[in-house]
Amino acid sequence: MKSYKIVKSNIDKKGLIASKNIKFGTKIIEYKGRIVSNKKVENDPKFDNSKDIYLFDLNKRFSLDGDFSWNTARLINHSCNPNCEVEKIGNKLWIMAIRDIKKDEELTYDYGFSFDSDYKQFPCKCRAKNCCGYIVREESRWRINKKFKKNIRINR
Ligand SMILES: [Zn+2]
Repeated sequence: MKSYKIVKSNIDKKGLIASKNIKFGTKIIEYKGRIVSNKKVENDPKFDNSKDIYLFDLNKRFSLDGDFSWNTARLINHSCNPNCEVEKIGNKLWIMAIRDIKKDEELTYDYGFSFDSDYKQFPCKCRAKNCCGYIVREESRWRINKKFKKNIRINR
């Protein structure tokens, strides 16, 4: 049984909420997509920052494009105080619970956008107490000039 459902969200148009209590460490849903080369990402206007961003950085050469209706996980919103994160397990990306989540809580993760002079393109409406107002990764490192992608945080 699925542990999530699609709802109208307070954060953005749509989101996913927990349809039952979810334990810390649970694999909730796969973030599905198609693999694209980073060269294509740089050159294809489909991936401009002015559009919604569904790209994940996989490695130096490839990204995962999740901008497909069959990728339900694309609806999960960013939060500055998230209850999920994305983990790469084998070749797959999974949305994992990073704490116990109660039924009806909205599922969120940190999109991990790098800090960049363009950060104001991505206002955050997550309503968390620690919300910084923009979607920028927690440990924003240095300013870089490249296209925004979601980043996987490696815990191990
Ligand atoms: Zn926020």
